[in-house]
Amino acid sequence: MKILHASSEVFPYSKTGGLADATAALARAQAAAGHSVTLVTPLYRGIRDTFPGLEPLGQAELPAKVWRLDPEPNLTVLFIDEPEWFDRDGLYGHVDDAERFIFFSKCVVRLAKHVEIVHAHDWQSGLVMPLLANEPVGKIFTIHNAAYQGRFPADKFALTGLPDAYFDSRQLEFHGDMNLLKGGVVSADLVTTVSPRYARELLTGEYGCGLEGVFQSRDDALSGVLNGVDYTEWNTMDNPHLAAAYSADSPGGKAANKRALQHELGLPLLDNAPLFGNISRFTDQKGIDILLGALKEQLDGGAVFQFAGLGSGDPSLEQAMSRLAKRHPEQVAVKIGYDTGLAHRIEAGSDFYVMPSRFEPCGLNQLYSLRYGSVPVVRTTGGLDDSVIDLGQGEDTATGIKFGDCSAAALGQALGQALDLFAEPKRLARVRDNGMRADFSWRQTTAQYDRLYAKIKKPAA
Ligand code: ADP
Repeated sequence: MKILHASSEVFPYSKTGGLADATAALARAQAAAGHSVTLVTPLYRGIRDTFPGLEPLGQAELPAKVWRLDPEPNLTVLFIDEPEWFDRDGLYGHVDDAERFIFFSKCVVRLAKHVEIVHAHDWQSGLVMPLLANEPVGKIFTIHNAAYQGRFPADKFALTGLPDAYFDSRQLEFHGDMNLLKGGVVSADLVTTVSPRYARELLTGEYGCGLEGVFQSRDDALSGVLNGVDYTEWNTMDNPHLAAAYSADSPGGKAANKRALQHELGLPLLDNAPLFGNISRFTDQKGIDILLGALKEQLDGGAVFQFAGLGSGDPSLEQAMSRLAKRHPEQVAVKIGYDTGLAHRIEAGSDFYVMPSRFEPCGLNQLYSLRYGSVPVVRTTGGLDDSVIDLGQGEDTATGIKFGDCSAAALGQALGQALDLFAEPKRLARVRDNGMRADFSWRQTTAQYDRLYAKIKKPAA
């Protein structure tokens, strides 16, 4: 099939979170499966310096300069080059984000000729769906996080070039504003989100972020497809970021990674204290406040453990994390910032990975943790619930520890369970082994998308 993806971030060219990993890996997996795949994304500052192989796309009548890269067979990445919109620091959060991503979506539409499927991702590409409303192409829209909607004042609607009828409560209008995520949801043939449980959660007031009515109206078209992991990127055997190679069949090297991580972060080199890890955007979503509360409770109670944290975001959470590390230098190490190498080393060096998200559309870090033998401790929401099997199921099948309440007390209890598990090395080894052998590769994800695409495919022009 000829497939075109539109995404505002694609790893390794740009990334703020899971969207970049997911779209890159999906496109690669589809290309490897024999589809002809094009990925369209903005040319942000620095990409051409880092990837000198970009070549100009010789196609006339495009609204911007476009660069192409063919990183592997069947896969072409097209970069929209408009310095006024994209040559700046930071991907999002600019005052003119409406202009920037409306422009991006219009460019995508111009490039979406001669394909059978256009697959747009998140609000930044939402407008692609209504812009293609009358085109003979299968349209699929994936929500990676419904909390970010691209909601802008009504006067920005004129920039879309859509007929006025589209500024309507059944289309892009939402409480007097323009909502680009909603535009994608209402105009796509099919809507997916990145886990089955999150697809059900979106229908509720608790998780629907105000759009639950819109999701309910598209219930027949909405489904959840769990993201996969790119195991060529996230692997423990051939990984330049890691101190030692290891795997489910030869798990011995994990201990060397733990010591290397302790050394790197200035923590005492203890084998007999469990090391908990977390890598997050510091936002309300990720439950960092709950994590802080539970860690404090455990530290005050004299529990023997270590914690390695990496993240950035909300300044008050950054400060609170740094304060905790200062107060407990033997037990808590926190690095504020963004560091891919350290993210791999925390996954490899920690015994447990803590993810107390308030909501989690899919979550990738718990999937990486499973493969890296860092037993996930997760809240029962979204993709966390879909991908982790709780200890309560027995250690023959369990891969992690789950808790339900969104509170420091509930997480504290789960951490207590983790401490107990750590004290029983045989049980821990079993649970860790189950997780390391679990397969969340993209094969399954692409097969599910193949079935969805087949339902909406239109013949190529
Ligand atoms: P989200 O997309 O909501 O941020 P996910 O778990 O789906 O959460 O994906 C997060 C991705 O971003 C993972 O690949 C994770 O390792 C990475 N990441 C997040 N914060 C950092 C950071 N501070 N440094 C390095 N990588 C990070």
